[in-house]
Amino acid sequence: MISKARLKKLAEEHGTPLLVVDHDELRKNIRAFRRYLPRVQPYFAVKAGADPAIVRTLFEAGSSFDVASMPEFELVYDNIRDMPARERQQWIWDKIIYANPIKPVETLAELDQYKPLVTFDNLDEIEKIRRHAPRAGLVLRLKVSNTGAMVELSSKFGAPPAEAVDLILEADRQGLVVEGVSFHVGSQTTNFENYVEALNLTADIYAEAQSRGYTKMNLVDIGGGFPAPYDSTVRPFRELARIINSEINRLFPKHIEILAEPGRFFVATAGYSVSKIIGKSVRDGKPSYYLDDGVYHTYSGQIFDHCKYPVKAFKRGRTRLSAVFGPTCDALDVISMADPLPDLARDDLVYSEMIGAYTWASATTFNGFSPAKVVHVNQ
Ligand SMILES: *Cc1c(COP(=O)(O)O)cnc(C)c1O
Repeated sequence: MISKARLKKLAEEHGTPLLVVDHDELRKNIRAFRRYLPRVQPYFAVKAGADPAIVRTLFEAGSSFDVASMPEFELVYDNIRDMPARERQQWIWDKIIYANPIKPVETLAELDQYKPLVTFDNLDEIEKIRRHAPRAGLVLRLKVSNTGAMVELSSKFGAPPAEAVDLILEADRQGLVVEGVSFHVGSQTTNFENYVEALNLTADIYAEAQSRGYTKMNLVDIGGGFPAPYDSTVRPFRELARIINSEINRLFPKHIEILAEPGRFFVATAGYSVSKIIGKSVRDGKPSYYLDDGVYHTYSGQIFDHCKYPVKAFKRGRTRLSAVFGPTCDALDVISMADPLPDLARDDLVYSEMIGAYTWASATTFNGFSPAKVVHVNQ
């Protein structure tokens, strides 16, 4: 937790727009994850907040990583410090999963030397992997229900359950090894039933594969989706963990390794943004403020991630519903049409909390405005 006074001081020191990452909070989140889900090894989904300092802190705290592109793979690989090259080679599956079911052949060719663990969900990908990364271990990505998730992730990826075992057997026929099954229940999932359904479906796939003679699977990857506590409607993580623990222990024998790919859950609460009012007007009778940060930058999560980040003032005073805009010329660059704010002046600072996931990671340089400077504290 970073105090308002410290945030303000950091902004005065570094300028705005600013994004502050609290590494104590990163460590707290991974500790909670490992404590409540003791059987599950977390692979941090790097896309939620791709940064070498974050990778290092989470690695030291025991995290592995989920990557989805060659630059993400290299970001992780280069930052797995204190590990001799030979050991890295053996540890690669323990530390990295390449969890994008569709991979360019150039990427597969480059990945092959690492004997990576990669996901797939279709016939053409099996063919690609056989030709370009035959040393890879495979994980079948299953299409599962995303009901009630803030961000839907099943329309683009995942094999239909009815085709899953056929794909596993085809990969086997082509000389590849399928190590297990993965799924993603949708990001910011507050409908915990999705995990129960997906785990039961996975157990069915395991049973069908076994009955058709395939017995090499030994891992289940339960994906991401673990919700950040953005507001009081999100039930506590330990409740979700209790449900997941009871299902995995009931459905999968002890020797089956359980992986997860939390993204948002690790970084959301660790991020704070501070920006400055660069202009002020009254539009349709409403106080309207223009910031040096907006939806093309740190607030990009409001577009891509369907998440809302309330803007708060350091100043106190009687509040009025106010509009808050970003600095670009695009009328889409609206942070809020109704945030309760006191009367603010040009050069005043404002901030947002829990803005660490899918925010600065998807910032652009549109219209010539640079993304926020990222500052790490409590490293
Ligand atoms: C984005 C993504 C994640 C992370 O999801 P969160 O909801 O942020 O936990 C995990 N796995 C895959 C395959 C993803 O695409």
